[in-house]
Amino acid sequence: MCNFGMTSRQLDMDEVLAQWDQLLERLGEGIQRLHIGPGGSFFTDAEVPAAVRVAVIRRLARLPFLRAVGMETRAPFVTEQKLEEVVSALPPSVERLTLGFGLECVSDLPRLVCINKGYGPTEILRTLDIMRTVESRHAGLTIAFEAYVMLKPIFMSEQEAIGEALQTIDWVLRHGGETAVLFLNTVKENTLQAVLAGPLEKPSSICYRPPFLRSAIEVLLQLPDEWREKTVVLGPQSAMPAHQLPKSCALCSWPLNGALVAHNLYRDPAVLHGAAAIVCPCKDEWEQELGADSETLVARATRGIEWLESEARSWGTTRAPVTLH
Ligand SMILES: [Zn+2]
Repeated sequence: MCNFGMTSRQLDMDEVLAQWDQLLERLGEGIQRLHIGPGGSFFTDAEVPAAVRVAVIRRLARLPFLRAVGMETRAPFVTEQKLEEVVSALPPSVERLTLGFGLECVSDLPRLVCINKGYGPTEILRTLDIMRTVESRHAGLTIAFEAYVMLKPIFMSEQEAIGEALQTIDWVLRHGGETAVLFLNTVKENTLQAVLAGPLEKPSSICYRPPFLRSAIEVLLQLPDEWREKTVVLGPQSAMPAHQLPKSCALCSWPLNGALVAHNLYRDPAVLHGAAAIVCPCKDEWEQELGADSETLVARATRGIEWLESEARSWGTTRAPVTLH
């Protein structure tokens, strides 16, 4: 679902650090908060070797006003030693370190089967323990976490997607997440969902379409006030172009997108209520979609995987069979 299908070649350490220096130069000295989105996992050695990780953090010392640093990583790769190395390399001005984990869906079936995430709540809780241990050794530093929540993975209905996002945000914030980031799914090049959204003939129940913008507004409106204020919405804004974006129509795309951006900036629910009340043709379409659910996710996912497997065979690709539990 992500940008990896468009990843170019892997850079060596000198190239990475040269680019990093150029970027920091462009940002200027006044930066107070910096989020490092490695396009993957900051604590995974195969993606960011230990020496690069520490060198990237050390270079932040050129930002004298830096208070908060964040980075994305897969939770199971955060060991006490690696976290300690990163924390020790932080400039002394930094008071807050935030690790961002992709949880995507708290339920096992969509997370493990539709997304193939490979880890989940158990691993995140284990990492939170490690974070507390390291934090206790560094007075004046808070180590927090945020988590990324996927709105509408493949095979999920619109209604299931809304319910799963609500449950996932609930889990993140109940476990002390500083922010839940709701990502509206898009269709990117070289992804499974591009195949499922593409022109090949397939059962209609497994065709992929990104979520409606209205579903994101619905998720926000269903959250308790305190949690809505800790939830932001991202996804359509990306450095990598998407074939398909979250859905709406020509009449409502500006106000609905605008309401989501306004929510990120101001957290004023009146903007969301206003957006939800806009009447347009796609509102009817969205409401029909919410009511149009007949079979279970297990049935849809099973059919989808069978179809993908048979397609893969016809492309001459071999891979291990996927089973659902
Ligand atoms: Zn519309």
